[in-house]
Amino acid sequence: MSEIRIMRIGHRPDRDKRVTTHVALSSRALGASGICVDTYDPKLEEGIRSVADRFGGSYTIETGVKWREAVGKFDGTVVHLTMYGQRMDEALPKIPRDKDLMVIVGAEKVPPEVYQRADFNVSVGNQPHSEIAALAIFLYCFTGGSSLYSDRDGKMTVIPNERGKTVVENIPR
Ligand code: SAM
Repeated sequence: MSEIRIMRIGHRPDRDKRVTTHVALSSRALGASGICVDTYDPKLEEGIRSVADRFGGSYTIETGVKWREAVGKFDGTVVHLTMYGQRMDEALPKIPRDKDLMVIVGAEKVPPEVYQRADFNVSVGNQPHSEIAALAIFLYCFTGGSSLYSDRDGKMTVIPNERGKTVVENIPR
């Protein structure tokens, strides 16, 4: 399976801390391998690394990354999620499965250049909603939800339970 990376544009540390955290955590749960955020934000990095450290996997976060540079050196398909884009159900069959994928999501207004640079501008419905929802729906449809219950070999594992909470603390090997 190819890798999926997220590029978050327009992050404002004071206003977007929670939303960008959820963009990262949702994409991690749905199988992305990491996120680049355009504005430097060490607290955001710390929070995401702490979750990845406890719950496992190899999700990475880098902040202060210029989107043009990230896209410029990325060798794969670039998808920009925007309510103005083509329908997701029409775009999905055209997106290659054998290449790495970069998914761009905005916070505030995204520069027009992003629309030109993206290989696919994809809408998840054409109503304005949220980058967390748009990304989660897109990733679920792209991957079929194949990572939702994958074992990430973390310090803690949550065991599905019909009632209550079952968490296993794993002993380091
Ligand atoms: N007003 C901003 C603009 O014109 O770009 C949109 C801000 S919206 C709160 C933040 C991000 O959510 C967008 O940049 C886009 O990535 C995502 N988003 C919101 N609604 C979407 C939709 N219907 N389809 C795809 N992505 C969407």
